[in-house]
Amino acid sequence: MGIVIDGRAVAAKVRCSIKEETEKMIANGVTPGLAVVIVGNNQASRAYVNNKEKACEEVGIRSEEYALPEETTEAELLELIAKLNAKEDVDGILVQMPLPNQINEETVLNAILPSKDVDAFHPVNVGKIMIGNYDFLPCTPAGVMELIKETGTDITGKKCVVIGRSNIVGKPMAMLLLHAHGTVTICHSRTKDLKEIVKDADIIVAAVGKAKFVTADMVKYGAVVIDVGMNRDENGKRCGDVDFEAVKNVASYITPVPFGVGPMTITMLLKNTLKAAESRLK
Ligand code: NAP
Repeated sequence: MGIVIDGRAVAAKVRCSIKEETEKMIANGVTPGLAVVIVGNNQASRAYVNNKEKACEEVGIRSEEYALPEETTEAELLELIAKLNAKEDVDGILVQMPLPNQINEETVLNAILPSKDVDAFHPVNVGKIMIGNYDFLPCTPAGVMELIKETGTDITGKKCVVIGRSNIVGKPMAMLLLHAHGTVTICHSRTKDLKEIVKDADIIVAAVGKAKFVTADMVKYGAVVIDVGMNRDENGKRCGDVDFEAVKNVASYITPVPFGVGPMTITMLLKNTLKAAESRLK
């Protein structure tokens, strides 16, 4: 029976050290600041934004919210981003996705100064992740790396399989595992023999967006299984991409959903904001 990795406990530990660092920074005259931009009335976005602001408050990071109406134009949003880029006490800018249809998300992300792009979505930061010389780590993959670290697993030489190739999770996840010297395979919807590939893995990261996609017969005995997925099962209950109840009997370590990867994602956002504020200290 695998050990369940408590994402909340790991996140609390990391947030403790972020709080200490923030206090030191404030004592040196710099209060890290995060601008959070939300456009429209998407309820899930509102919940995410509330959680991010609450997390900032807990560690002493100042957050300022810009809530814009649904009918906001792209030009208006770009004008706000330009102001925030120039605002000295704003270290990080986060634009909550998705945006209303009239606004091109890529144009908006590209308008954020790379040095304030705490989500690490700007092409400059994406490029730096590829090279392995990064300022900001993408939040969810960085959170996954912390969770793997927590298990004491040395990634060097391990067979790692990432299921999913999105720009925000799958691709950067594969890069971070590669930088940690894993032998990485990325699977996606066109992958042939996916089950056999996953079954051969020492470390599995599932980022598919399909409830209970990874079943026990796809997992090698003793594998580390990290579940990024956030789905609802047939009863409307929150679940991941992994069939947790069955896979936990095969895995050596496994993350639950909820309270696995989720709390780590916001924690990494705090870490990036702190990192962005360091340049003001210098
Ligand atoms: P996404 O953009 O929809 O990407 C899903 C990926 O899964 C795609 O690359 C897709 O392949 C692949 N896929 C879909 N069906 C597949 C199949 N049958 N076999 C193999 N691969 C398949 O999703 P995402 O943004 O990466 O997010 C993935 C999941 O993580 C979602 O549940 C999301 O809610 C969750 N998430 C959680 C957090 C967190 O903090 N916990 C953060 C971000 C996302 P193709 O590219 O071929 O279409």
